[in-house]
Amino acid sequence: MTTTPDAAPALRRFGRTAQEVPVIGQGTWQMERDARATCIEALRAGLDLGLTHLDTAELYGDGRVETLVGEAIAGRRDAVFLVSKVKPNNAGRFGAIEACERSLKRLGTDRLDCYLLHWRGPVPLAETLEAFERLETAGKIRSWGVSNFDVADLEEAERLVGPGRIACNQVLYHPEDRAIEVGVLPWCEARGIAVVGYSPFGSRGGFPASDSPRGRALDAVATKHGVSARQVVLAWVSRTPALLAIPKASRPEHVRDNARALRLALDADDLAALERAFPLR
Ligand code: NAP
Repeated sequence: MTTTPDAAPALRRFGRTAQEVPVIGQGTWQMERDARATCIEALRAGLDLGLTHLDTAELYGDGRVETLVGEAIAGRRDAVFLVSKVKPNNAGRFGAIEACERSLKRLGTDRLDCYLLHWRGPVPLAETLEAFERLETAGKIRSWGVSNFDVADLEEAERLVGPGRIACNQVLYHPEDRAIEVGVLPWCEARGIAVVGYSPFGSRGGFPASDSPRGRALDAVATKHGVSARQVVLAWVSRTPALLAIPKASRPEHVRDNARALRLALDADDLAALERAFPLR
């Protein structure tokens, strides 16, 4: 395998925060549908392997996934970069504070490392951001960010709170959907905002089949480095300094596979081959 120079897990500063996070984290969407004990085992195995950025949301399983995550991190909270999200309907001036308190309780912790608005909804953005700033001042969250924001949304948020406040924007990003590259990514890069890519594998069974042209392109790069196609995708999704990836894996063997991408560095030939297979449209 081609590795990062010191073979240590690749860490990146998370937006405006002083905290460093691994370039690959762990998502938790739909874990309420998976075998609970296996999910907890998988999340803990990920933590052991350096996948310490955990992404969850009050939405997931109506809070059941936050409870599951709380159990997985019990006794090791300080080693985790913990992110949760408020539902748009709960994101009012007071509602967001109450929602955060409920999330903290389910997660068994006294603070989140980052708290996100899951997507824009009916509540005025000014109210949500006022609540986020109050939560940060109170020490309930260490930073806040947004999710599924386009450039117009980001500009509105920046106008409301001033520059340097948004820690991250969590958005859909995988080789077959590169939409963020034409607006959101450069906007965030210019301001030091972390861009956290979700659904790196295309989600809903969308990963390129190995007998398809795209699957073969991934396999060629994977074979060259002695890694899996999923590891190639994770290295690609996190290939620039602003980018982080949060694959979800409820099976420990998947977590182990994903964690190996922490040490995979793609070279210029790999990136060119992937560019040909997954061109930016
Ligand atoms: P994903 O991470 O792209 O794909 C998850 C699927 O890939 C699961 O079926 C998982 O299987 C499988 N998988 C994981 N690692 C694998 C491996 N090494 N080999 C083979 N299969 C593997 O999809 P996602 O859950 O949509 O996105 C990731 C996370 O992003 C979510 O869990 C959530 O935390 C976040 N997210 C955020 C938003 C938002 O609006 N902000 C939207 C979507 C997702 P197993 O579970 O069986 O291991």
